[in-house]
Amino acid sequence: MSSPETVTVEVISCPLDNCAWQHAEPVVDVPANALANIFGSGVMTGVAQVQRAQRVEDALQQHFASHKVEQYLRTITRLRADLKGAIALLDDATVNEPCSLDHHGYCQEHMDFSEAECYQARIKRFVAEHAETESGRG
Ligand SMILES: [Zn+2]
Ligand SMILES: [Zn+2]
Repeated sequence: MSSPETVTVEVISCPLDNCAWQHAEPVVDVPANALANIFGSGVMTGVAQVQRAQRVEDALQQHFASHKVEQYLRTITRLRADLKGAIALLDDATVNEPCSLDHHGYCQEHMDFSEAECYQARIKRFVAEHAETESGRG
C-alpha cells in the first residue's frame, strides 16, 4: 500500500435552513498511470472531472430526496423576507439627487470615481427591478 497522504476535499453543504448535511468530495487528482500515458493527462483529467461531477450530483440528489417540499418552501420564504428587508434598506440608502457625470464619466454628485456605473444608479435600478417583482407577488 502507498503511504498515507492528505486528501484535499471540497465540502458541499445543503442550502436548506437547519440542515447540517455535508458531503466531502475529494478534489480530482489524476495519477500518472498507464492510461494517462496513452490519452494524455488533459483527457484523463477531463474524464475524472466528469466522474466527480456525477458523484456529487448523485450525493446531492440522494440527500435532496430526504427533504420535504415544506422545508424548501420555508427556506424560500425566509430568503424572500431577507431580500425584501435588504431592498428596503437599499431604498433608504439612495438619495434623490440624480447622477451628474463629468467628461470622464465619473459621477460628481455621488463622488463615485470608479470605472463602473455610479453605485447610486446601480442601487436605484436594483431596487426598482426588485420592488416590481415583490409587489407583483403581493
Ligand atoms: Zn439538507
Ligand atoms: Zn451618481
